[in-house]
Amino acid sequence: KIRTRIAPSPTGFLHLGTARTALYSWAYARHFGGEFVLRIEDTDVARSTQDSVDQILESMRWLGLEYDEGPVYQMQRLERYKAVVEQLIAEGKAYYCYSTPEELDAVREAKKARGEKALYDGTWRPAPGKTLPAIPEGVKPVVRFCNPQEGDVTWNDLVKGPITISNREIDDLIIVRTDGIPTYNFAVVVDDWDMQISHVFRGDEHINNTPWQINIFNALGAPLPEFGHCPVILGDDGQKLSKRRGAVSVTAYEEGGYLPEAMLNYLARLGWSHGDEELFSREQLVSWFDGTHLNKSPAQWDPAKLLWVNAHYIKQADNTRLAKLVAVQLAKLGVELPAETVNTHLPQLCALLKDRCDTTVALAQWASKFYADVQVDAAERAQHVTDAVKPAIATLAEKLAACAWDKASIAAVIKEVLAAHSLKMPQLAMPVRVLVMGTAQTPSLDAVLELSGRTKVLDRLAKA
Ligand code: GLU
Repeated sequence: KIRTRIAPSPTGFLHLGTARTALYSWAYARHFGGEFVLRIEDTDVARSTQDSVDQILESMRWLGLEYDEGPVYQMQRLERYKAVVEQLIAEGKAYYCYSTPEELDAVREAKKARGEKALYDGTWRPAPGKTLPAIPEGVKPVVRFCNPQEGDVTWNDLVKGPITISNREIDDLIIVRTDGIPTYNFAVVVDDWDMQISHVFRGDEHINNTPWQINIFNALGAPLPEFGHCPVILGDDGQKLSKRRGAVSVTAYEEGGYLPEAMLNYLARLGWSHGDEELFSREQLVSWFDGTHLNKSPAQWDPAKLLWVNAHYIKQADNTRLAKLVAVQLAKLGVELPAETVNTHLPQLCALLKDRCDTTVALAQWASKFYADVQVDAAERAQHVTDAVKPAIATLAEKLAACAWDKASIAAVIKEVLAAHSLKMPQLAMPVRVLVMGTAQTPSLDAVLELSGRTKVLDRLAKA
């Protein structure tokens, strides 16, 4: 049975890179009718926070990455790790190491000085016929795994292809710290084993950990999952995408006015392809995603493309749904709308404005012109609201005060005024737009006026 998982550490927000591997893991499980598990790797007690757990759960929910099991918390599984460690020690596959940090530093320095790799020197590693040092007093031991000293570790990576690492390159890993808490490389193996994970997708910063993990799986007699290591996401500077270079949390994009389906589409495509397809639905992703066509080389984060994808989904989105999202963004701009407006008027505004907006933040900025006072740029006003056009604006105001308030009637009024004053559409439309919306670039005038409402329009025109 296909079982995948995502295993974030709750030491911050859900990083885009983790979101992407979560997405691949989820899609892979869905594609094969398998299961997807969420595990919270909270063994770094000093850095793990509830706030971060909440954020991770919220981002998973927002992206629609439903999990079939979890969240499972590692800190609730300490008894289980302890039992497995004891078993390994009893079988001679792990051992207590009493080397102090100072001793380990000295060994490392000496090895470096000789030009050797700074591996653990094996002082406490048991061996037939070997006498171990006397256990020093007052030193809390760590537990180390007896890594094989010969041979190679080989696996066929789902993303990178065959990888081989010599056991001579790796040393006896610490699997339990002095405080009794297991390290990542050990807990992850016990968990992936217990949770019967068949496929592990994760970032390639973990490639160096995988040989240890494979050796531990083997020592436990546990079946090996398949591993797929996805390359990092790069920023526009060619460096690993980092906080300093812009938003890297899923939450930031949610707050920044992106739609989850756009994020999902963009993230999926970043590092994977299905022919030339750039825009695809969640269902298409699931039906196409079989673990092939994952890129071996790093992808570059492209904010402009993400905006383009988002604009596409905004155009497609249901207006009532958009209105609810835009209302949240409007509130951040200080515009609080009654539920009635959000349910009836704002969806119409969204329909009118969404073609020109690539985020719900942009939509809110536009919508705010309809609900809040607009600032008219003095230069634009001087350019468009000339003395020559003021009589026409006065006629327009007069007729708008009396006409039926729908788009067709408003359009008819505008036509009459143009004829009466021998003006062309832009000559009247530009100044009216500037007066009502604060800018000459707006959607069609009749729609803008209709949705602005009669009171506001007359009030603004009077300012001419
Ligand atoms: N907690 C690890 C991380 O956040 C999980 C790595 C893995 O998937 O094994 O990177």
